[in-house]
Amino acid sequence: MDIIRLLPDSVANQIAAGEVIQRPASVIKELVENSIDAEATEISIIVKDAGRALIQIIDNGKGMSETDARMAFERHATSKIQTADDLFRLKTMGFRGEALASIAAIASVELKTRKAENELGTRIVINGSDVELQETISCAAGTNFAVKNLFFNVPARRKFLKTNAVEFKNIMTEFQRIALVYPHIDFSLTHNETIVYKLKGCSLKQRISDLFKKALNKNLIAIESESTLARIYGFIGLPEFAKKTGNYQYFFVNGRFMKHYNYHKAVMLSYERLLQTGTQPSYFIYFEVEPSTIDVNIHPTKTEIKFENEQILFQVLQSVVRESLGKFNVAPSIDFDTEGFIDIPYLQKDSEFVLPSIDFNPNYNPFDSESEPNKNKKYGKSDNFLQKANLENWQDLYSGFENNKHENTDFEANQTTFFSKQNEESENTNSLVSKNLLQIKNMYILSPIKSGLMLIHQKRAHEKILYEQILHQLDSKMSASQRVMYPMQYEFSYDDFLLFAEIKEDLQFMGFDIDVFGKNTVVINGFPPFINANEGVLIFERLFAEYKNYDKNIKENLNEELAKSLARVASMKVGKALNGEEMRELIDSLFACSNPNFTPNGKKIIHILNIDEIDKFF
Ligand code: ADP
Ligand code: MG
Repeated sequence: MDIIRLLPDSVANQIAAGEVIQRPASVIKELVENSIDAEATEISIIVKDAGRALIQIIDNGKGMSETDARMAFERHATSKIQTADDLFRLKTMGFRGEALASIAAIASVELKTRKAENELGTRIVINGSDVELQETISCAAGTNFAVKNLFFNVPARRKFLKTNAVEFKNIMTEFQRIALVYPHIDFSLTHNETIVYKLKGCSLKQRISDLFKKALNKNLIAIESESTLARIYGFIGLPEFAKKTGNYQYFFVNGRFMKHYNYHKAVMLSYERLLQTGTQPSYFIYFEVEPSTIDVNIHPTKTEIKFENEQILFQVLQSVVRESLGKFNVAPSIDFDTEGFIDIPYLQKDSEFVLPSIDFNPNYNPFDSESEPNKNKKYGKSDNFLQKANLENWQDLYSGFENNKHENTDFEANQTTFFSKQNEESENTNSLVSKNLLQIKNMYILSPIKSGLMLIHQKRAHEKILYEQILHQLDSKMSASQRVMYPMQYEFSYDDFLLFAEIKEDLQFMGFDIDVFGKNTVVINGFPPFINANEGVLIFERLFAEYKNYDKNIKENLNEELAKSLARVASMKVGKALNGEEMRELIDSLFACSNPNFTPNGKKIIHILNIDEIDKFF
């Protein structure tokens, strides 16, 4: 008996769809690319429920004839190539003729399209590859695709979709990659009735700042180079605006977004010595090359691209970036003799980094406030130990802020147990640790102990102390927060705002007193008590950046993970000079922790050099 059968088209298309359409964002990419190929100058994208319920793309492009409209849904139906040779001359975005067939296989699709020269247009409804209806209608010139119930017949795919926040973030990412290539095209993106972007055709530089931050505009310098091998152009960020997180780094080749590790290295090399350790510049760099010199026959969802002339282009890129930086008189101005410090303060005093939408008084010290109960307490300068004050003891940490969320009795009860536990243990420590503490390289604390010499990594110690403090706060559900006098507005991007909503409550319990205030905007009223309010926004930003990088599967331990991140980003800088009292405090607090030997991430905090080992030195 013969057992081999041909798969019905609908099944074949469904299988093919798995490659091209992985998530709602892929539908947007394919349909918008089609609109661009159809020479549209205005493209509107309407999304409901992160694309699960609806993805609609409306363009004013050249439209389709009645026959083309029907043909378009056939697999390998394309108007863009005729022969295999065409593959190597391609200037259009799509060419495989698979996108529409794939989308129609796994969703309900309604197409309305009309060519400008025709009076009437065509409407087609397809449901899981079945054409349910084709009729002549009157409609606007151009093309209007509505894709509903994505993956309705592929439950496995549906199950793999992430939360709406994550899926919409992917949509924004695709959208931005396309909008950055076609600044002259008007784009709008609407999600659940909210207008996320409304972009008018403009210059590339303007498009970049329309998409991201207005403030980016004045930080960008142009690059431009033309040779027989490639035209390379775009914008790069001034080195002083380089950040540790939240940079925008984009490469495009022939109008397509790409990732290219080596070219990234070339850019970084050009900036060498201009950047503070750990920071990275933003860049938006466009390559135009002969299509036959790159590998076009790659998977549509792949972003890595092979270049025939990679070595030479590496050099060209490096020199064009360097040249522009030189032209703009960006000379090395940073002292690179960091003497082994691993970390340079995130925000330099004289750097101009300002979050555009934040308005706050940087000199404000919440502890000087009239309303502050401990007004007459003398706190030191903000750059003091534990970022706040010369704390006489740990209780100062708690008396210095307002417990504005929960009942005081609760709070005090917890406080007592916390401190009594700590005092017991630090008595043990006192007998262990000598009064003579030494700091070396502003990084390590040394103390002679009975069995030899104890070395403590001060930054890690502080991270551990903060971590336990945060966990304690989370466990006891007391949201202690130091209030700022002038609440600050903070504006998220739309996708970040969705992500923020997921952790708002956890942040609240950690001491970030944040209220939602209109579209994508929040007001920050207070920060956790152990961070310097002046650095609050930066710490918040860094915490949020860490959160965005979490593996999405850690949901269960989200609290703990956030506590780890906050402790890391809020702990003291490496290279902080400490006086004797501060060192003692740090060590006492460290030994009050459940396991002082390791950071929450398992890094070593304490090393003991035994007398035997010391003997061996001699
Ligand atoms: P490809 O883009 O690879 O050619 P698609 O399946 O994406 O394959 O599209 C099939 C064909 O449908 C295109 O070649 C084009 O002729 C036509 N088409 C798709 N979208 C549009 C649109 N928005 N406007 C005009 N024609 C379109
Ligand atoms: Mg296409």
